Amino acid sequence: MTERVIVFDTTLRDGEQSPGASMNVAEKVRLAIQLERLGVDVIEAGFPAASSGDYDAVRAVAAKVRNSQIAALARASKEDIDKAWASVREAVHPRIHTFIATSDIHLKHKLKMTRDQVLEAAVNAVKYAKSFTENVEFSSEDGSRSDPDFLCKVFGAAIGAGATTINLPDTVGYAMPDEFGQLVSYVQKNTPGMDRVILSVHCHNDLGLATANSLAGLRNGARQVEVTINGIGERAGNTSLEEVVMSLYTRKEHLGLTTRINTKEIHPASRLVSMITGIVVQPNKAVVGANAFAHEAGIHQDGVLKNRMTYEIMEPEMVGLSTNRLVLGKHSGRHAFKRKLADLGYDLSEGDLNHLFEKFKELADKRKEILDEDIEVLVAEEILRVPDRYQLNYLNVISGTVAVPTAIVKLEIDGVEQQGAGFGVGPIDATYNTIAKMTGTRSKLVRFSINAISGGTDAQGEVMVRLQENGFVALGKGADPDIFTASAKAYINGLNRLEYLKKNPSLSAEERAL
Ligand SMILES: [Zn+2]
Repeated sequence: MTERVIVFDTTLRDGEQSPGASMNVAEKVRLAIQLERLGVDVIEAGFPAASSGDYDAVRAVAAKVRNSQIAALARASKEDIDKAWASVREAVHPRIHTFIATSDIHLKHKLKMTRDQVLEAAVNAVKYAKSFTENVEFSSEDGSRSDPDFLCKVFGAAIGAGATTINLPDTVGYAMPDEFGQLVSYVQKNTPGMDRVILSVHCHNDLGLATANSLAGLRNGARQVEVTINGIGERAGNTSLEEVVMSLYTRKEHLGLTTRINTKEIHPASRLVSMITGIVVQPNKAVVGANAFAHEAGIHQDGVLKNRMTYEIMEPEMVGLSTNRLVLGKHSGRHAFKRKLADLGYDLSEGDLNHLFEKFKELADKRKEILDEDIEVLVAEEILRVPDRYQLNYLNVISGTVAVPTAIVKLEIDGVEQQGAGFGVGPIDATYNTIAKMTGTRSKLVRFSINAISGGTDAQGEVMVRLQENGFVALGKGADPDIFTASAKAYINGLNRLEYLKKNPSLSAEERAL
């Protein structure tokens, strides 16, 4: 008999706590739609008491998503729970998720509360949340380092107060799989009323054991797992959705558990998270890394060609990767192009589609192979683009072991060409300094990443930047075979988007983002 595991995705809440990963409202809504398509049971959309931006984002997600439950996080206080409820009340399936720490270390140093006070606060929080909705989750922060008997006591009281899901987190990523499995089993057996509710696990990856610990929890009775796409999250991150889901899928007969996840949406979700946050997935990352299905060693290639099962335990198609990476060319029609966009997770309007198809044809005339990544760059540059105030007309960079890195830049600013030059510690720094000086902008560069779009030294370089100015955050992207030009394009793209945000403060948050 197989039992179903509830997948609770917290990419929008815990995942967003990764350094530099903050997302705006429109980005969160876009990601939530993909999470719904992926089939996650619960989307934790944010922590509304943390900021007004978080509150707005949870409300926007709650209004948009129809099939997944929408959870909002709240500390064990009336104010937090009020904000959480106000943000999710419009959801079709709302959930309030309240928490308090239970380990002595947190009680003593952070909360400065006694165990009895924590117990009382937990009960009051769950009761208060329950006055708004049937669907209440309670979490014991730092659960894995808490006294197991105290945990059972708090959990039992939370269930008595009406909690319907009880979550046991390994907040600091300290647990070992056998030990965590035993704790889950102990709590399961010794908590009054646990048989009436869902037991959940939430593991962090500080020792690289998040997936192993989560699976140990599931083997010992937990039936909800809290995860993020690509495993993003604070410090070393959270448990990754794709690893847990594909473990359950691939080793079904061993674990006897299933999920509702449409695994073919895993890759589109992974790419979207990476594109929105600017956090690149490491190439050897399980399931979603660029090399996860690449067979380089000759002996492996030979085996895979004869029969895939020799070295492949999962089919790339199962996680939404087309084996035929060389997808479109100049003879591809509009229909094939539209299909490809849909496969990549883009649902565009007719107008955008027509525009993009023309650009695609132009690119296909220049190059015979158009890869998925090239199409994503096209979408980013053509559709996510905003009216340009700044345009790059000319760039010359001098660098090397003897020269002081220098950039000479010609920009068109409001239609007028201007020229400037400047220095920096490296060629990209010199370029960015010069552009900032010429545009009179003071944005902070929060993130910079550079990637080769395809293999080989002739590959296009793709640069992604996140800029911050006056509370606005904008993502800029640029691609070019020359990495300095790609860097300049990305920076200017980001500046144009910041400019757009600054000029349109009255636009709704959703319109402002793209
Ligand atoms: Zn966490």
